[in-house]
Amino acid sequence: MSGPLRIAVVYPDLLGTYGDGGNGLILARRAEWRGHEVELLQAPSDGALPGADIYCLGGGEDGPQVRAARTLHDDGMLARRVAEGAVVLAVCAGYQIVGRSYPDARGDRHEGIGLLDISTVNGSGPRAVGEVVAETVEGAPRLPTLTGFENHGGHTTLAESAVPLARVTAGVGNGDGSGTEGALAGRVLGTYLHGPVLARNPALADLLLGWALDLGDLPPLDDGAALELRQERLGGVAGQARRRFRPRRRVH
Ligand code: GLN
Repeated sequence: MSGPLRIAVVYPDLLGTYGDGGNGLILARRAEWRGHEVELLQAPSDGALPGADIYCLGGGEDGPQVRAARTLHDDGMLARRVAEGAVVLAVCAGYQIVGRSYPDARGDRHEGIGLLDISTVNGSGPRAVGEVVAETVEGAPRLPTLTGFENHGGHTTLAESAVPLARVTAGVGNGDGSGTEGALAGRVLGTYLHGPVLARNPALADLLLGWALDLGDLPPLDDGAALELRQERLGGVAGQARRRFRPRRRVH
């Protein structure tokens, strides 16, 4: 790769509700700390999407999600750059719109931009809200336990060519009854995990950086703060599960 690593946060004005813009910042810092030159671009929806090596799409509300998908489709840059090898991290609403189809607030179907062979419909049950814990599955890159939080009404089904990222051990994830979370195809990775997901899962950040920089293992960083955060979050979920399943005392 020649020139700086270009990281674009896609449409923060539409897909910025859940703080997922932090993923771009985390990627930028982790590359800089290893001596790479980085350009971190905020790419609002009223301008042309810049050419970049990594694109980060975040979660958003139902209305802005539809606008983001249409604008991305009309712009064309994201699909072009993916065909050229760019890396995409797409979270929640972003995950749904890089798929084939997704619903709006009324449940009407909209076309996604088709980078992942997945489709999303509105679930019939309550909205999935809360902590998620998931383990990467065979066929996906092996990563330490994934942690994040979810907040979505959509349920996502993967077709043959999309590989699930992980299997949930707590929370809902894709929510289609398969017990899976997220999907990937080539260098496009989608997930329901907010956090931002890369703050809670530095190994996932390094996986994406490794793809973008065409490097295998990256030199380790001091991840003490991230590990503390992971322990606190994962411990909280384990504590909740213990409280939920505590056998009730028999009353005589
Ligand atoms: N509107 C979508 C849903 O509810 C995405 C929500 C989000 O981005 N957190 O499924």
